[in-house]
Parts: sequence; C-alpha cells; structure tokens
Amino acid sequence: MTAIRPLVAGNWKMNGLLSSVSEAAALAELLRSNDEIEADAMICPPATLIPLLAERLTGSRVAVGGQDCHQIESGAHTGDISAEILADAGASAVIVGHSERRADHGESDATVNAKALAAYRAGLVAIICVGETDAQRDAGETLDIVAGQLRGSVPAAAGAGNTIIAYEPVWAIGTGRTPTADDVAEVHNHMRTQLIAIVGDGESSAMRLLYGGSVKPSNATELMAVENVNGALVGGASLKADDFFGILSAYTAG
Ligand code: PEP
Repeated sequence: MTAIRPLVAGNWKMNGLLSSVSEAAALAELLRSNDEIEADAMICPPATLIPLLAERLTGSRVAVGGQDCHQIESGAHTGDISAEILADAGASAVIVGHSERRADHGESDATVNAKALAAYRAGLVAIICVGETDAQRDAGETLDIVAGQLRGSVPAAAGAGNTIIAYEPVWAIGTGRTPTADDVAEVHNHMRTQLIAIVGDGESSAMRLLYGGSVKPSNATELMAVENVNGALVGGASLKADDFFGILSAYTAG
C-alpha cells in the first residue's frame, strides 16, 4: 500500500472576520519557510471569506474548503449555499455531516450522503464527518454507530480522490477531552475495514481518515502517530496560525 499523504484541515466554524485573512496568510508563510512539513493543509472559513482566502492563498500550500453545502445546485433555499457556489468561490473541498450540522439542523445520514454527491457533482472533495456521542460511547456503541454512519453517509461513488473521512467523537469537540490513542486506533481500523464494503478494498486502503476533536499542538504528535490516522480536522486550534502550524509540525520529516 502506498503511503497516504496526511491532511490537516482547519474548520473555522462561525469565526472569522475580514481581518482573519491575515492568519491564513501567516500559516501559508510558515509552510513556505518550513518545507520539511510533509502534510497538506486546508482552511474551511465562513463562506464570506472563501474568495478572499482562495485569492490570497493561490500558489501556497494551503487549500480552501467550505463548511457545508446544500444537496442541489441552485434554487429557492434562502441562506443555503450549493457546492457549485463554493467551487465558483475558490473552494476545493467541503465538510459535510459535521456533528454540529447533524445536531443543529437535524441532518440525517441520507442528507449527508446527498451532500457528498453534490460535492462530487461540483468537483469538490467531500470531507464526511462521523462520530459517536458521549452516551453512545458509554453504552459501548461507538463502533456500531460509526459503522452505521459510514454506511448511510458515504456514497458508493466515493473514492480516495473525492472523499476524506473525519472521525470526530462528539464529546471530544471543543471540550479539551480526547480519546486515548488506543481508542482512536480501534475506531480508525474499524472504519478502514467498514469502508471496504462501501467503496472497495483499493479505495478504502487509500482514503484519508482524519481524527478530529480537541487536537492541539500538545497532543498532535501522539494522535497523528496512530495507525490509520492520516491527519486531523481541527476546530479551535486552527484559528491561530501558530497553533495550526504547531499541529502540522507533527508531520515534520525525519
Ligand atoms: C471540529 O469541530 O471539527 C473540531 C474538531 O473542533 P475542536 O478542534 O475545537 O475540538
């Protein structure tokens, strides 16, 4: 199996003013002057910043993504944004099925699946999020919940080139709590196996599986070293270029 190039993607959520473009530019500069970092980087800002970041980051090692998209291409859906609009604005990827969307907007696996298909239609990579709640973990249901979310949310048309999976335990997001490295390994190994039935052996073994949930510079080296972890989806710690770079530094060559 060829090595999977890691990705560290930052999810800025509902944070980011025009002045935040400077943090993205600072990250690009850190990556330019530290070419020993062997990972890709991406920022998913609020939609208003996508064209600005895309322009500012052209030629840099930092890609730009959206945080959500609607299933259909255009039409009467006030406040929503389509994958085509994100692509037109300069995004190359979009997060779908984040637990905050699943909880705040009642998004089902079927909706997430349709959004991933919309991403493919627009030429975007879909970053599909899965993860169990605290109660589900306590009930010993983690592996079943994650497997069910993968079956429902990942289209058969998914492959390593158009899809990234992010395992984000809901209880670890923004809390400072993380699973142990062994727990992350168990879930990621399980996801790799479960994906075979959905996308086939070859695509499954090449697909990036990110871990997300309270990743910081101080825990990134341990979490990113876990088997079948091919990078991170980062919320809070992606807002400051130095912290984001500190996480990327887990992938320093040598
Ligand atoms: C997220 O929301 O995708 C996330 C991982 O957040 P945080 O890093 O802040 O836990």
